[in-house]
Amino acid sequence: MEYSYYNPTAIQFGKGQIKSIVNFISKDQKVLVVYGGGSIKKNGVYDQVVSALDGYTWSEFSGVEPNPSVETLNKAVEIIKAEKIDFILAVGGGSVIDGCKYLAAASLYDGDGWDFLEGKQVEKALPLGAILTLPATGSESNVNSVISKKATNEKRYFGSPLLYPKFAVLDSSVMSTLDDRQLANGLVDAFVHTCEQYLTYPNTSLLHDGYAQTILKGLHTLAQDWSNRKTELWQENLMLLANQALNGFIGSGVPQDWATHMIGHEITAFYGLDHAQSLAVVQPHLLRVMIEDKQEKLTLMGKEVFDMPHNYEMVIEAIEYMYQSIGVPTKLSAYKTDDNVISNITKALESHGMTALGEKGNVTLDKVSRILTMSLK
Ligand code: NAP
Ligand code: FE
Repeated sequence: MEYSYYNPTAIQFGKGQIKSIVNFISKDQKVLVVYGGGSIKKNGVYDQVVSALDGYTWSEFSGVEPNPSVETLNKAVEIIKAEKIDFILAVGGGSVIDGCKYLAAASLYDGDGWDFLEGKQVEKALPLGAILTLPATGSESNVNSVISKKATNEKRYFGSPLLYPKFAVLDSSVMSTLDDRQLANGLVDAFVHTCEQYLTYPNTSLLHDGYAQTILKGLHTLAQDWSNRKTELWQENLMLLANQALNGFIGSGVPQDWATHMIGHEITAFYGLDHAQSLAVVQPHLLRVMIEDKQEKLTLMGKEVFDMPHNYEMVIEAIEYMYQSIGVPTKLSAYKTDDNVISNITKALESHGMTALGEKGNVTLDKVSRILTMSLK
């Protein structure tokens, strides 16, 4: 095993931590506060940010939508360039934080920022920090960003070590305004993130496996304990589990899959499913189609996470049951699509060069068709 692991994001965990952002932003930096559709004005987060930034020179940009679009973000890029902003403060869920990573890179770039989504390496980026309001993506302390282009129905990703937020505030009291759909989405996204880095083989690290199993077990416990989802304990646990699921460590040095995410992104781009909804309609069917590669790790997962030794098919059913039990469908047929869904998704994957997905590069387009066919039944 060989890897280099470095995660410089300071985690500011717990109630009242929003005010600690002043320890990371200097008073001579011009700050742009970026947020989404306004949920932060309903739960007191905006007010806490305003009070923390007392004495700073700051302005704001709002309206970053779920599955943030380059069309919206480019308006902020112009503002950042014109006003010579020095620090970007993301206040929101994965969409706002991902959007801010795009802003950080695109604002110091002379060309079209979409180039990064087509493979251009980031060479410079503005510093950013994150106040997380929706635990799900891990974006608050990782290097990834997923950006959509409405004009072409595309959803693509990029990343760079230059995009680690300087800090991530994880105060679970900001979750009080999240509805069941977002809480369930967060749980599913974090579960799938862990699986993308754990349900692969071979993996020789007992620590990586054990860490991933602890995250999966924790998320499964939260799903079983769904009736307590409004409690502080439940929400605080989701916040930490989702953070650790994708902060880089459990994936370092191990084979990683990500086929569920890549197929899911295309589904969201065409049919508007929430990110986690798109994952839940792909993952169980992908595991069945790829069962030869997955059975060994699924068996271990059954034993360590679901307490059901030696039956990997039942483990897939347990995952499906878990998603359904918190209200997230596991069939694409539960959503409105159209007759072209399979060809739309496979053609989009092909045009993005994603014809050999998964940790072994053997999730080919014919397999994607089979996965989607099973999901549409
Ligand atoms: P999101 O798209 O950021 O937010 C979904 C909705 O939740 C928004 O309408 C938002 O409203 C609302 N919301 C957020 N916090 C709230 C709160 N405290 N109370 C009430 N409503 C709140 O959801 P997400 O699941 O965190 O992010 C999804 C995006 O992240 C997708 O584009 C996905 O592809 C991407 N993603 C990124 C990574 C990564 O590693 N970077 C990994 C997986 C997925 P407002 O807009 O009004 O705030
Ligand atoms: Fe995700």
